[in-house]
Amino acid sequence: MKSVLIKNIKSLYGIIQNVSIQKKSGTEMNMLDSIDNAYLLITDGIIKDFGVMNDLPETTAEVIDANNGYVLPCFIDSHTHIVYAKSREEEFVMRIKGKSYEEISEAGGGILNSAGKLQAMSEDELFESAKARLFEVIKFGTGAIEIKSGYGLTVEDELKMLRVIKRLKAISPITIKATFLGAHAIPTEYKQNREAYINLVLNDMLPKVAAENLAEYCDVFCDQGFFTVDETERILIAAKQYGLKAKIHGNELGYTGGVQVAVKHQALSVDHLEYTGEAEITSLKNGNTMPVGLPNCSFFLGIPYAPGRQIIDAGLPFCLASDYNPGSSPNGRMSFVVSLACTQMKLTPEEAINATTINGAYALELSHTHGSITKGKLGNVIITKQIPSLAFIPYSFGVDLIETVIINGAKIN
Ligand SMILES: [Zn+2]
Repeated sequence: MKSVLIKNIKSLYGIIQNVSIQKKSGTEMNMLDSIDNAYLLITDGIIKDFGVMNDLPETTAEVIDANNGYVLPCFIDSHTHIVYAKSREEEFVMRIKGKSYEEISEAGGGILNSAGKLQAMSEDELFESAKARLFEVIKFGTGAIEIKSGYGLTVEDELKMLRVIKRLKAISPITIKATFLGAHAIPTEYKQNREAYINLVLNDMLPKVAAENLAEYCDVFCDQGFFTVDETERILIAAKQYGLKAKIHGNELGYTGGVQVAVKHQALSVDHLEYTGEAEITSLKNGNTMPVGLPNCSFFLGIPYAPGRQIIDAGLPFCLASDYNPGSSPNGRMSFVVSLACTQMKLTPEEAINATTINGAYALELSHTHGSITKGKLGNVIITKQIPSLAFIPYSFGVDLIETVIINGAKIN
């Protein structure tokens, strides 16, 4: 039995005593329970005990001195595309010069640009570059992550991406969930015959993904210029037959029905939500689908932010993820997501932390093991440098305030 004791914690944040709490909604999101002057004991990778320093138990555990830093649960990043071939800074420069994301996409840029580059790259090369990104974000405090396919867009290349994710799962210290996103964009050669591509997703990709057990979830980019609500429904119905739950890219580019179709098909989450109004909020209230904002994307593309404040004020849960990808969010640092949520969406620091921890865990069906300081959950925590307050984390945007990351009770170097 291997135990680790973290002592001299200025405040231990993110405590949820009841392990059956899966998410936080509405006013609960502003509550982030804490203990000042605390210790935390992790045994065999699992949170065993915590309390005030005066009650520190006798133990032979390895001691880590938090040195008056804060301790929080690791971030859960429920939406990423970290398996990709090349960065896309040439498109970034095109946008600076005035081209829109959709114009760049129509000119062969965007997702199709990433697809072309990924198709030309070997599985081993893809694995090595994605592995580097995975360990990069772990150092930034991410303690579980979702990774999507969707830059393959052929049967073989979608499978190649998902096999890379499967290999990452085998070597990763953190939990990874895989999402099949064959319906990310219509490839150029199918532009005049989109039905043929949808049939490829339904009749070739999905059965093979399921047969090799390569994904937990199925995603569709349901938005203008991408997939319609009807096409999305057909794909989700088929995916369900293969046991894949839905996670949807919706309402990034317009009020396109993505939220409603996600709720109708009991999607685990609907992500983006830049265009969310009363109808979408009403729809979300009638289901259990987690709304997920991706503020990096709004920051980077200069598009509206998802109305996180209104979503929470409507009594709903709200989650935040990085959307780490080469086109619209080339950054996986979740503390920056927290800063943007506070500065741009007007979330409180407590709400933003809940949105990136327990609610992220819900969006990946990991609430029983991740996302809070709870006895019996995994010992995945961040120890901060010496900082004056919790609010200092989003306040100091872009600054690295993490001293140590602990995954399954072990320090990450
Ligand atoms: Zn995405």
